[in-house]
Amino acid sequence: MDIMTALATVSQSIKIAKDLRDLERDLDSASYKAKMAELYTHLADIKMALSDAKEALHDKDREVQKLKDQVDALRTGDICPICQMGRLKTTAVKEHPTFGVMGHQEHTLTCQNAGCGHSEKRKVIPK
Ligand SMILES: [Zn+2]
Repeated sequence: MDIMTALATVSQSIKIAKDLRDLERDLDSASYKAKMAELYTHLADIKMALSDAKEALHDKDREVQKLKDQVDALRTGDICPICQMGRLKTTAVKEHPTFGVMGHQEHTLTCQNAGCGHSEKRKVIPK
């Protein structure tokens, strides 16, 4: 059940509850029991729809966090493992000495902290 159907079911349930309020003087009537059964069914449907919506929200939250992390990594680069302050920036890209024949590259990353000077090479498989 999608959220729009769930909202429509909520509206129907509220109407049923109002009908029940009007019927409450005659508690044994068949129409009262039928309305109660209908109300319980609607409430069960709504409960399932809310549970589905909650799960969908959790999935979206996880996806948003993953994308935020990716954006942060793309924007800033990895933190330097030596000084723990500077960010590593790719300063050279060339064919990898061993795996270049397979299309792999060797990237030189240099710490952007002027007082650090760390640089390292990484094997990168182009996407
Ligand atoms: Zn550094």
